[in-house]
Amino acid sequence: MSAVFIVSAPSGSGKSTIVNRTLALDPKLLFSKSYTTRAPRGKEREGESYHYISREDFEARIGRDEFLEWARVFENYYGTHRGYWDRAQAAGNDLLLDIDVQGAAQLRERIPDAVTIFVLAPSRGILEQRLRSRGEDAEEVIQKRLRGAAEEIRNYKLYDYVLINHHVEESVHRLRSIIEAERIRRKRMEPSMQPILESFGMEMD
Ligand code: 5GP
Repeated sequence: MSAVFIVSAPSGSGKSTIVNRTLALDPKLLFSKSYTTRAPRGKEREGESYHYISREDFEARIGRDEFLEWARVFENYYGTHRGYWDRAQAAGNDLLLDIDVQGAAQLRERIPDAVTIFVLAPSRGILEQRLRSRGEDAEEVIQKRLRGAAEEIRNYKLYDYVLINHHVEESVHRLRSIIEAERIRRKRMEPSMQPILESFGMEMD
């Protein structure tokens, strides 16, 4: 039974670094690479962080119901392709998604067992400093991202877990602890328990 982990955070919170390090350490975790209409930033390349597609292509895929969820974020479309969930289930892997608050809410409707994690910078000042030091966005974009951050933070109650990202290593450790604990929830363990119970002459309810 595959688990789904949704990580959301205002941009600049350090979420991508935490997610990438966690993925590198956990071969059972499949990353859902989103589709987006936004242009690649800095050193980003097709297929690494996102699948970059045109607005027409995105809208055609919405029409074909290819996305498990999709949203408009900062004037661009972003969406989670169904194929990743199917692939994770077929391979017995767990799925990790990096999506925004709107996407997390939609996905929870479809996959109620999804585990949601919110990453937060320690303060607004630190978030602003991190956005500037990336050197990737114009001032106007930084201001828009800061307003977006306030909007996302307002929805923190949608989430099961909160990571205040003081240090990346500590946050990676915490995220991995959440993943490990969720993997051994009773409900997920029942298939493995079945032969044990049978050896005691019991059946599962
Ligand atoms: P960025 O442009 O900084 O890479 O991402 C902007 C926002 O879009 C982030 O909050 C990110 O989590 C969100 N995002 C990325 N992929 C998806 C997706 O497939 N669905 C939704 N709903 N949000 C996404």
